[in-house]
Amino acid sequence: MGNTDIQEKVRQIFTDYLSRNGHRRTPERFAILDKIYSIDGHFSVEQLLHEMEAMKFRVSRATVYNTVTLLLDAKLIVRHSFNNSAQYEKSYNTQTHHHLICTECGRVSEFENKGIKGIIEESKFPRFTAMNYSLYVYGICSNCKRLKTIRMKKQNKSK
Ligand SMILES: [Zn+2]
Ligand SMILES: [Zn+2]
Repeated sequence: MGNTDIQEKVRQIFTDYLSRNGHRRTPERFAILDKIYSIDGHFSVEQLLHEMEAMKFRVSRATVYNTVTLLLDAKLIVRHSFNNSAQYEKSYNTQTHHHLICTECGRVSEFENKGIKGIIEESKFPRFTAMNYSLYVYGICSNCKRLKTIRMKKQNKSK
């Protein structure tokens, strides 16, 4: 599916969701949806707010929060909690993937793994229908590891 097709499709889903639940279909809400679907990877509400401001699109913080809540409920985005900070990403037509989270700098990168995919899909969960899943792997990124080594060397020298 091309990007414009996806943009179109998620707009349609959001339109249906808003009218079904008696919410107003405001241009702000759709501008936020468009912005989110143009972002690759993860974002926080603060980042989203900055991006909207950079586009010279005036939206209040309250509107951004409110729209994010609606998009979560409409299943168009998912919420992650990396190192206890809330981050979001689009979820329509995205591949199942997992996250490597650096506990030093908070950097998040993604990976896919066919083995994990097979295990989850073949698993039978009693009285439970699995819909999606994501694994968080915590650790230290190469950049932070390098900085740590340098710091340790310096400490050793000063001894
Ligand atoms: Zn992700
Ligand atoms: Zn790091």
